[in-house]
Amino acid sequence: MASQTRYLLGEDEIPTSWYNIAADLPVPPAPVLHPGTGQPIGPADLAPLFPMAIIQQEVSSDRFIPIPEPVLDIYRLWRPTPLHRAHRLERALDLPAGVRIFYKYEGVSPGGSHKPNTAIPQAYYAKQEGVARIATETGAGQWGSAMALAGSFFDLEVKVYMVKISFVQKPYRRALMETWGATCVPSPSPDTNAGRAILERDPESTGSLGIAISEAVEDATTRDDTKYALGSVLNHVLLHQTVIGQEAVRQMEMADAWPDVVIGCVGGGSNFAGLSFPFIREKLGGRPVRVVAAEPAACPTLTRGTYAYDFGDTAMLTPLVKMHTLGHGFVPAGIHAGGLRYHGAAPLVSLLLDQGLIDAVAVLQRPTFEAATLFARSEGILPAPEAAHAIRVTIDEALAAKQAGEPRTILFGLSGHGNFDLSAYDSYISGSLRDYEHPQSEIEAALADLPDVSRETSLG
Ligand SMILES: *Cc1c(COP(=O)(O)O)cnc(C)c1O
Repeated sequence: MASQTRYLLGEDEIPTSWYNIAADLPVPPAPVLHPGTGQPIGPADLAPLFPMAIIQQEVSSDRFIPIPEPVLDIYRLWRPTPLHRAHRLERALDLPAGVRIFYKYEGVSPGGSHKPNTAIPQAYYAKQEGVARIATETGAGQWGSAMALAGSFFDLEVKVYMVKISFVQKPYRRALMETWGATCVPSPSPDTNAGRAILERDPESTGSLGIAISEAVEDATTRDDTKYALGSVLNHVLLHQTVIGQEAVRQMEMADAWPDVVIGCVGGGSNFAGLSFPFIREKLGGRPVRVVAAEPAACPTLTRGTYAYDFGDTAMLTPLVKMHTLGHGFVPAGIHAGGLRYHGAAPLVSLLLDQGLIDAVAVLQRPTFEAATLFARSEGILPAPEAAHAIRVTIDEALAAKQAGEPRTILFGLSGHGNFDLSAYDSYISGSLRDYEHPQSEIEAALADLPDVSRETSLG
């Protein structure tokens, strides 16, 4: 079976629990703080935003949390997802036999990315608790489509605040959301106080993820029938994504291989965590593996951000979480990996970086699309621009191993396909795509606005 290309698990091998890395961390996660008082918050503070089952998962220290049967039922529509050996990419790179590339492909979900893995349970728990409506935000549109899909399965009304620049540039994502029954408006919108305030200052505002989060949070907290749902960053989202890595551990064993390095792209950190946490569990148990986060140089949260308490949104409505951040006022450049433009990174991913359990690398847009194009021409799949960051880092790892004459087994997360991102490929092919590195002066300016509590914490 030396030439096997896809490693497939049966439907009965879908993981039946999510893996909670909080149970195995060397240090406990920092508490989440109330934005007004700076004191640690409890479950009751989050109750206006999230279903109680989700809040319990957010703070749980149980190692495994069972996946409800109705969620498994929907997972069966596309899970387990395939693990591929990238034979053709290896040949295109002229790699020696000892340098091997595998990828775990999440683009087979109905939404085309890993995001339905958490949208489905979030909708399920909301429905269980009698919620009628979900308010959420979306950057490039993948999360909005995943939530729209989940809403249609559980008969929930879904309202999506979509970052205006994407709303204008990606009409097909909006059409997908509407087909699944959701309502989608450009953010900043006139529908919320947060949106109106921004439009008053800047009627031409193209929006940001932080602004859209402010709008969705305000929507959810001002209506009794509505909860909020977040597509990344929070512990429960990362938890739900661990089906990816649990499957991948078994599939690597099927392939009689173990990764020397696991690579994933990081926006908020959920697909990266989903793939890597089950491997980090093995690492903590003594089975070595290097884990690398790939991020854009235009939004270098992990490589150049500060590890401090910050707000999750621009309007400073959310609780404060300790994370790597570029500052809640950060407005990203218009790079084409819309899903990688968030100012923060998941607290759990930030903590692992701080503990030296993972590494992070930032890459530029053009080399990233160069890698994506080589991948598409050898493996066939058109990668999501976000996932292409992981491909760039994977190729660099493979070429470094080749150069050093060392064997290396590399596993990366192909978090989604890029079939809705053709305008990005169009810019690359036409030569209009520009490299952009976030300037240090802007990083410093945004960090000057961190909440006081974070300054005390980082000084203390
Ligand atoms: C949203 C998205 C990302 C970034 O989000 P994470 O929470 O960091 O995973 C990456 N890849 C794809 C395909 C996405 O849709």
